[in-house]
Amino acid sequence: MTHTLTVKKVPSEADDNVEYTVGGEHDRSCETYFICDQCQDDESITAEIMDDWAADGEWMRHGRTHIESEGGDIMVLHKNYCALREHPDLSLLVEQLGVGTHDVEVDYWGDGRWEIMGYGSKGEVVYP
Ligand SMILES: [Zn+2]
Ligand SMILES: [Zn+2]
Repeated sequence: MTHTLTVKKVPSEADDNVEYTVGGEHDRSCETYFICDQCQDDESITAEIMDDWAADGEWMRHGRTHIESEGGDIMVLHKNYCALREHPDLSLLVEQLGVGTHDVEVDYWGDGRWEIMGYGSKGEVVYP
């Protein structure tokens, strides 16, 4: 899914403030997650998942939404988190893209690594 990045201000010599907003709809493709220690080593969980797994692949336990990762780990979703919004290189990308509204993509590359890239004003691909 595509996000947008609206940059209003990039740092200048006089003032190093940056102003930007992240837009777009946040969904599973940008939600971050972590392994649930509480569920991961519980043998009874696997059977419970088989029974209760919701049609959309989500599963509630101890008040949190879980999913199964591609590697089979039981993960807790960081609901309302966005890997783009939280990305450590986001401000770098903002500076590289400059003022304007840009399409930005965020992808999970495995091992906790998220890649972000934006499209510049001429459609060129920009990596931070
Ligand atoms: Zn998002
Ligand atoms: Zn859990």
